[in-house]
Amino acid sequence: MTKTVALQKCDEYDFEKVLTCVKKLLELVPPPDVRGKTVLLKPNILYPKAPELAVCTHPVVVGAAVRAFKELGAARVIAGESPAIAGSATAAKATGMYEQVINNGGEWADFKEHVSVPCPDGKVVKNLDFARQFLEADIVVSLSKLKSHQLMAYTGAMKNLFGLMIGLEKAGCHYRFSKKEDFAAFLTDLVVAAKPGYAIMDAIVGMDGPGGPGSGDPIQLGFLAASDNILALDWKCAELVGYNPHNVLNLEDALRRGIWLNSPAEITTSGAAEEACRSTSFRIVRDSKALSNQMPGVINFLAKKLLMKTPHFNARKCKKCRRCEQICPAHIIKMNGTDSTARLADKSKCLHCFCCHEICPADAIVLKRF
Ligand code: SF4
Ligand code: SF4
Repeated sequence: MTKTVALQKCDEYDFEKVLTCVKKLLELVPPPDVRGKTVLLKPNILYPKAPELAVCTHPVVVGAAVRAFKELGAARVIAGESPAIAGSATAAKATGMYEQVINNGGEWADFKEHVSVPCPDGKVVKNLDFARQFLEADIVVSLSKLKSHQLMAYTGAMKNLFGLMIGLEKAGCHYRFSKKEDFAAFLTDLVVAAKPGYAIMDAIVGMDGPGGPGSGDPIQLGFLAASDNILALDWKCAELVGYNPHNVLNLEDALRRGIWLNSPAEITTSGAAEEACRSTSFRIVRDSKALSNQMPGVINFLAKKLLMKTPHFNARKCKKCRRCEQICPAHIIKMNGTDSTARLADKSKCLHCFCCHEICPADAIVLKRF
């Protein structure tokens, strides 16, 4: 494993241009030898949305990655995902991803059945339930979208692998690891168990602002990045859009494990210049936990209370789809608001996981501090 991140400037989702960039990334930082092997690509489909809204990895990037790995000699390239709500193939078809995968010689995998995968070195878990197709893969590739994230501040290649777990099982993990530090440790354990051999970041158009990762604003970033070192990739991408990655709890937890990096100073880049990929207008989400951890004693306690956000429901926007009710790990969302719309039944039991906010298709849930 190297500590190098390959960068390529790319301004539009034109298939030939994206394919050229993806091939260049694979030349600059080569993946493990895929000849005759099965590659499992894990794109991000948080829930099915049009590509231009930047909720999901762009289908053209997925198609180009399938083609590039096939051309490198992979026997099979499987792409799969399990959105929290909506069937896997239905979601892939709605986003245009399914067609791209099939047309470029890949297979779409419905993540439906799970298998138990050991994680003996895990800090908070020793076993994880992954989609069955994980066991068919010789090489796992995270194919992520660069986005802001209300819970973890930033989401990219590492967090994307959470989707190896099936549907609502993911929400249960928020209940089990309701402290943010524990959830960060859980995410790192999950990446340790998944052992990704490569990761590609779709940062041609990312998502920024307080609505991320489900309803933030698309922002033109104009680059693709890749590495065989998933932490190096996330660290560099987070930094390029303005985060201090030390304040992204799961990246900091991963750094402390010393598996991928001993220090961020070890990361090098190749290909496009870092300055050409840097964004000064990306609106980052500041992690309240990381910020309050930097404050002492009683100030820390008060800061935690004041910085903590809870969901507020807008009855006029609610479409009564019940997705938030189904996903809430604390079972505190009820459809008994104005006109049977969704509302928070018991604020005191909220885990602040923001799954409801992520999944709402109507932008009807806002996170507020008061
Ligand atoms: S708040 Fe959003 S997710 Fe919940 S029922 Fe209304 S529209 Fe659906
Ligand atoms: S109300 Fe929303 S933020 Fe609170 S526990 Fe339920 S899903 Fe998580």
